[in-house]
Amino acid sequence: MTADTRIWHVAVPSPLYQEFDYLPPQGVAPDTAVAAGMRVRVPFGRGTRVGIVTATATASRVAEHRLKRAHALIDARPIFSADVLRLLLWAADYYHYPRGEALLGALPAPLRRGEDADARAERRWRLSAAGRAAATGTLRRAPRQEALMQRLAAATEGLSAQELGAVPGAREALRALRAKGWIESHEPAAEESAPPSPAVAAIETGPALNDSQRAAAAAIEAAFGRFQPFLLDGVTGGGKTEVYFHAIETALRAGRQALLLVPEIGLTPQMVERVRRRFAAPLAVLHSGLSDGERLAAWRAAADGRAPIVIGTRSAVFVPLARPGVVIVDEEHDASYKQQDGFRYHARDLAVVRAQYLEVPVVLGSATPALESLHNCRQDRYRHLILGTRAGAAAPPEIRLVSLRDHKAERGLSPLLARAIERHLASDHQVLLFLNRRGYAPTLLCHDCGWIAACTRCDAHLIYHRARHLLRCHHCDAERPVPAGCPSCGSPDLRPLGQGTERAEETLAERFPEAEIVRIDRDSTRRKGSLDALFERVREGRRQILLGTQMLTKGHHLPHVTLVGILDADQGLFGADFRAGERMGQLIVQVAGRAGRADKPGEVLIQTQHPDHPQLAALLRHDYRAFAHGLLDERRHAGLPPYGCLALLRAESVHPRAAADFLAALRAALAQGAPAGVEILGPAPPPMERRAGRHRAQLLFHSERRAPLHRALAAAVQRLQTLPKAGQVRWSLDVDPIDEY
Ligand code: ADP
Ligand code: ZN
Ligand code: ZN
Repeated sequence: MTADTRIWHVAVPSPLYQEFDYLPPQGVAPDTAVAAGMRVRVPFGRGTRVGIVTATATASRVAEHRLKRAHALIDARPIFSADVLRLLLWAADYYHYPRGEALLGALPAPLRRGEDADARAERRWRLSAAGRAAATGTLRRAPRQEALMQRLAAATEGLSAQELGAVPGAREALRALRAKGWIESHEPAAEESAPPSPAVAAIETGPALNDSQRAAAAAIEAAFGRFQPFLLDGVTGGGKTEVYFHAIETALRAGRQALLLVPEIGLTPQMVERVRRRFAAPLAVLHSGLSDGERLAAWRAAADGRAPIVIGTRSAVFVPLARPGVVIVDEEHDASYKQQDGFRYHARDLAVVRAQYLEVPVVLGSATPALESLHNCRQDRYRHLILGTRAGAAAPPEIRLVSLRDHKAERGLSPLLARAIERHLASDHQVLLFLNRRGYAPTLLCHDCGWIAACTRCDAHLIYHRARHLLRCHHCDAERPVPAGCPSCGSPDLRPLGQGTERAEETLAERFPEAEIVRIDRDSTRRKGSLDALFERVREGRRQILLGTQMLTKGHHLPHVTLVGILDADQGLFGADFRAGERMGQLIVQVAGRAGRADKPGEVLIQTQHPDHPQLAALLRHDYRAFAHGLLDERRHAGLPPYGCLALLRAESVHPRAAADFLAALRAALAQGAPAGVEILGPAPPPMERRAGRHRAQLLFHSERRAPLHRALAAAVQRLQTLPKAGQVRWSLDVDPIDEY
């Protein structure tokens, strides 16, 4: 690139879908070694921004005397590895998102601000053992030291000098406390990288692999050094994690890194713990719960190769690796891999693209693979590795339907399920009940006039939360006091209607006084660390009823659970979205998979009004693949993904008609010279037309093939920026949406 470096193309974070040309900074020779992927500081509008050089050229389309000079070249080497830069540029293009936003968004915040990429990890201060032992109040005559001690005691990860600087007189206090030996410093990254060379030494050896695990592990091992996607399709408890570990070990032995993606932050600690027990190698962990400093330290350890194992959630797919060997995506069907705002990428799909650039194998694992992934296996794009039986001795649970037409439920609980709960508790086992609705009741109803508590900003009911005694909207988070009487007719007879987890907890506590009820949902786990604490209680408990939402269904090992009850299967089966059936099936299989691990046989009861629903039958036979293939046939007939491509353009505005008018104008504009083979549906209101005070509308783009869809979206994005009402309307484009609304 050194020859053509007179003009720098720079991706600057801004909503504009274009790059900007700059001249090299004053005093920097035009043939300076500048390369794509380096950060530059540039003048932009009235301020300055950090951007990324994407290319250099000899000429610009802008007249040279109008070009500005960059202020400074920040990096001596590209901040992104070549594959990550390529991935981000590809993804920005594929998802039609501004390049600058995509690129800068993939960096830890300090690097986004232009800080030095090679700086040593920031030193952090924490209390020493002596400091923790020193009683509070002993420093009454030194209030600054006392204040500092209190801040340090509250910060589990320690505090950087910069963070401590916020305390007045911190520096003197710090020195005094150090002299007392009450505080000590450490470097977060240095601690992780204790062994200087990647040691493979297993701390704990795993179980001997069974035949199908061994076949899967061998197939992955044989693919090292080239691109090959695998779908590791294994029943829950089938030993997928053991196969991942084998792949990680293979990478480590070859002096390579393994990147392991996990669906969400809640599952990270247990995977991290399992990996730590197995491998002595340093680990870099990346998730949304980290401080800027921690994130940067982990990012660096991955990027410079100090951490042979990198574990992270969604955005870790963009973390550079010095010596990549294998990419693994655990629970690949999980919706949390799709970013739902801003840059709406799918991390599983990008993991496959990245593995292709890196020429490494990629393993997608799940007990309930996404229909897209099964389809890719049928098309021979992915190799299908099947773990058909549970590892070890565990037998699959028996699944039965409880017809709510024949067995009348009382407050959400049928007599059949109630008796089963009794039986399992009597044998000192645990029971898991699933209800995907938090709060006490989904509505508050006036028994006299039929008034229902509704959100004033959304087309939605308010949820009654009894413990906090308020009404809350689960869409916009608005909270209202519970009225003493009906606002419409004045009647005092307001009644909660329907079942939420809070109410189910109350019902269960009355019905099973001898059992301990552990409720796990977003409300009961709001405080940091409380989820871990609840699972800790569950690990040791007996005679417990675990009651919860989706949170409870994900990947946790619950060896004492022998009965799983799904209180309301119909909630998901009849959703408006075309993925509703797939989701419900995955959920049933995942929840059922929590029952009867190890030596205890399990039982699953599913309460439904529709026991003859055709999709449920295959699930009862433990045949998720037959279930999925049935759904795939339906999708093929409808031309829906994976047999067709979708994109959703959402728009919203505080003005009632603005969003719909805006989309109608776009549609009209696109009709002239519309790309062949693309169908545009709408504008239509989503089921919830008004949300958080904004009126919403959407356009659905549908095409059998990717290329024409892509062209149509590119044209749409160009048009959108020039439409008259663009200022009143917020819009976002979702390529391959996982929710239709
Ligand atoms: P998955 O990830 O598919 O849910 P895991 O890998 O977590 O399954 O395995 C489930 C349980 O079975 C774990 O406790 C694991 O240690 C055990 N296990 C896995 N493979 C074997 C094996 N080959 N022999 C004995 N136990 C195994
Ligand atoms: Zn009333
Ligand atoms: Zn609301």
